[in-house]
Amino acid sequence: MSKDNKLSVKKDKNKDSQYVPPEWAFEFHGHRCPFMPIGYRMGKLALEYLGIEREKDHGFFVFPEIGEGHPQTCMVDGIQIATGATYGKLLMEKTFYGKLAATFYHPQKGAVRYSLKPDFIDEMGKFEFFAYRKRGVEPSQIPESVANEVIDWSYEQPHEKVFDVTKRPDFKFSPPKGSFNKAKCSICGEYVFERYLRQKDGQLVCIPCSGYEKNKK
Ligand SMILES: [Zn+2]
Ligand SMILES: [Zn+2]
Repeated sequence: MSKDNKLSVKKDKNKDSQYVPPEWAFEFHGHRCPFMPIGYRMGKLALEYLGIEREKDHGFFVFPEIGEGHPQTCMVDGIQIATGATYGKLLMEKTFYGKLAATFYHPQKGAVRYSLKPDFIDEMGKFEFFAYRKRGVEPSQIPESVANEVIDWSYEQPHEKVFDVTKRPDFKFSPPKGSFNKAKCSICGEYVFERYLRQKDGQLVCIPCSGYEKNKK
């Protein structure tokens, strides 16, 4: 990983803000874009709102409203980085609404929804970065100065200008009950966790070997 930290050349007064992602976040994400940092800030604010720390284990959930086949979903990497509610820990479930918003839920502390204000999105869309994106240029191929211009601008926007915040007192979520039980598929011999085992001719099998169509849950 490259250690030439080019952004640090730019002396930004907000650079040390707790809402600005650390350099490793950009390395993890893969490129410099404005949406990962916005998601990072959203995640930090949601933790503060709910009065909780970054999640170490499995006790906090995020429901991003992004879908598929649309831009600006980079936000969700920033949310994961800030909150520790990661895809791999099964703490994140997309709603597929195709919106730039997310609900943050802690079983004891409740739920809050953050969404990006349309006016903020419109204003940000005027930056040259998005002219490149609309021509199909990938973020890593966009000149760094162009990317930093919109990122730095976003850092300067106050929280109230960027986010709408709504408490969701009625929000409920029960994660599926966890189990360590597993068995080997009688056809391919690979381990399968129990909720995904199927029966075929009286034998336990995995979903691909079962011949059934893919099951969502
Ligand atoms: Zn990105
Ligand atoms: Zn199998």
